[in-house]
Amino acid sequence: MKLAQRAVNISPSPTFAIDGKAKQMKAAGIKVINFGVGEPDFETPENIKAAAIEAIKAGETRYTPAGGTLKLKQAIVDKLFRENGLEYQTNQITVSVGAKHSLYNAFQVLCEPGDEVILPAPYWVSYIEQIKLSGAEPVILPTRQENDFKLTPKELEQAVTPKTKVLLLNSPSNPTGSVYSREELAALGEVLTKHNITIVSDEIYEKLLYDGLEHVSIAAISPELKENTVVINGVSKAYAMTGWRIGYCAAPAPVAKAISDLQSHSTSNPTSISQVASVVALSGPQETVSEMVAEFEKRRDYMLERLTSIAGVTCPKPNGAFYLFPDVSAYFGKSYQGKAINDGAELANLLLEIAEVAVVPGVAFGSDDNIRLSYATSMENIKEGLDRIEKFLAELQ
Ligand SMILES: *Cc1c(COP(=O)(O)O)cnc(C)c1O
Repeated sequence: MKLAQRAVNISPSPTFAIDGKAKQMKAAGIKVINFGVGEPDFETPENIKAAAIEAIKAGETRYTPAGGTLKLKQAIVDKLFRENGLEYQTNQITVSVGAKHSLYNAFQVLCEPGDEVILPAPYWVSYIEQIKLSGAEPVILPTRQENDFKLTPKELEQAVTPKTKVLLLNSPSNPTGSVYSREELAALGEVLTKHNITIVSDEIYEKLLYDGLEHVSIAAISPELKENTVVINGVSKAYAMTGWRIGYCAAPAPVAKAISDLQSHSTSNPTSISQVASVVALSGPQETVSEMVAEFEKRRDYMLERLTSIAGVTCPKPNGAFYLFPDVSAYFGKSYQGKAINDGAELANLLLEIAEVAVVPGVAFGSDDNIRLSYATSMENIKEGLDRIEKFLAELQ
């Protein structure tokens, strides 16, 4: 059977090989320390679980409107106003099957062949495939580690062409943990407004912020920017609800309607039960979020200190999400017992094989000098994993 070109063009996840190997080793009884994780290691808070159980008992088990229940849309509108200073109506909100699905839908309704989407690197792996699936061309724009991996207005201006349709922004960022300040967003915003560029703003890590920083949505900078922005968010990361599959977008009403219409012919509504639980997540007590954030911040501090004390490893201090993205290129060209390490993928491979530590090579995110380490794992694992990495790197020649 012949596959459509669209399917042939999808690149398999470059993280898959390492992940598969780590799982094999685990199954064989080897205690692999996994720094490859992309989800919080906390439990979904009890009050949210209870709301879902209640929803099942109350019979909230049928189709809802394709773009989400009015109740959840209202809870999202209230949240955006209260926490982000953004004023939306419920007809500007669409609820989807996770933020990843919201992003996919956004590219589908906004982009077509002939369009360019500027994608700052390092980037989250799914963006590039979603952009390609819309028919648009991803234009990868590398950022610099010296600049905390943040795009400058000058770099942005130079990448703009008459075909530029969208800029993808992700703050706090996966994989770098970088966070844009209000001033930085405003400066980028001037360029974007001047060229009338749409912004897809992935704010899924908004609540995982450290050092007392406050999240700023680019849509909150000016009415012009709000008019040109599709805000993407969800409950997965903030409430440890990755399996519940609820994400949302806030956008001008015609965009929200188009997404809802598209969804009505693909997934229909996101799970009715998860929608009820998400109302409680967004509107209920938020203490569990602060507890999780405090724990993440402790782990970040420890991991950053250990990593940057290793000779040759450099890493800017990330202010958000739960990843570190150190530059390990000082070790390229070295070898372990005769096995050469030429790039990040080979380093990650040997780290797994010899040190039994799983990390994601930076090439997966468009930056080969780096590796990504997640601290969504216990402090005990983090200590053990860092000991192993330190020992392994010291043995390279
Ligand atoms: C986890 C993640 C998402 C997707 O979240 P879901 O709501 O679980 O689909 C989106 N963007 C980034 C950068 C992520 O890391």
